[in-house]
Amino acid sequence: MAEVVIVTRKSGEVYDVVVVGGGTAGLSAALILGRSRRSVLVVDAGEPRNAPAAHMHGYLSRDGMSPAEFLAVGRREVAAYGVELWDDRVTGAERDGAG
Ligand SMILES: Cc1cc2nc3c(=O)[nH]c(=O)nc-3n(C[C@H](O)[C@H](O)[C@H](O)COP(=O)(O)OP(=O)(O)OC[C@H]3O[C@@H](n4cnc5c(N)ncnc54)[C@H](O)[C@@H]3O)c2cc1C
Repeated sequence: MAEVVIVTRKSGEVYDVVVVGGGTAGLSAALILGRSRRSVLVVDAGEPRNAPAAHMHGYLSRDGMSPAEFLAVGRREVAAYGVELWDDRVTGAERDGAG
């Protein structure tokens, strides 16, 4: 049977946005949303597609950086805007009565 988790903050409020996936795309979205003062949760299963690569290239100012370090910096940046990060996998989502 699937576990059902209702995503709320410790305060009991629901998040404005839950981002599924904390790779480059998800963290970029979370950064913008966090800067826009939205309450944001990022849930990330920790399996970025470039995990096999030791270094990334062709990304201005980050040439040669390891993908893992790049994501670690991104996680620190979003956390500075109050974005919360969970290391987990989302297995489903559904609309509640209020949408
Ligand atoms: C081998 C390789 C080398 C590369 N080298 C370079 C390079 O040198 N320079 C460059 O600019 N680009 C490079 N790329 C491209 C770059 O990796 C991608 O453009 C980038 O990772 C895409 O980011 P993303 O956030 O869309 O996806 P991803 O990086 O794949 O991140 C998706 C994240 O979402 C998580 N996720 C997925 N489903 C769920 C779920 N249901 N619940 C929770 N979490 C979930 C995954 O675990 C993962 O952490 C490379 C790609 C590969 C494959």
